[in-house]
Amino acid sequence: MEVTDVRVALRAPVARTGAGERRPGEQRLKAYATVTFDHCFVVRNIKVIEGRHGPFVAMPSHKTKVACGRCQFKNDVGSRFCVQCGSRLPPAAVAPEAEAGEASAHRDIAHPITAEFRQYLQAKILDVYEAERTKTTMGVSSSLSAAHEAI
Ligand SMILES: [Zn+2]
Repeated sequence: MEVTDVRVALRAPVARTGAGERRPGEQRLKAYATVTFDHCFVVRNIKVIEGRHGPFVAMPSHKTKVACGRCQFKNDVGSRFCVQCGSRLPPAAVAPEAEAGEASAHRDIAHPITAEFRQYLQAKILDVYEAERTKTTMGVSSSLSAAHEAI
């Protein structure tokens, strides 16, 4: 299988000041990628995240939900109380997959199953991401100088 197209949409930098504190995870999300495989299959919402050791790719995922025993409302895994009726969720529902935390609360919707393909895919996406970042910083400076000339 081959990656035949990669589109990367950079995320606008998040302002550090102002109301509504952002969680660190939101600051680290740098871009969304849309990838085409073999000219015929598209996966959207692949994330580029700035990690401690450089950017890496996270596959699209959804939050796993757990139904409340009383009202059947589907709550995020990790919640201790039902958002709808306020009843306490059983501890088993809090961490159904042994390992607690972020990993068990999110499940990949689509993902490579071999390490080779994961690396290949990540390299393809990060190439475009880096190119897009360079283009953007250059674009900003050239439009700035254009504005100066207008004045
Ligand atoms: Zn409930």
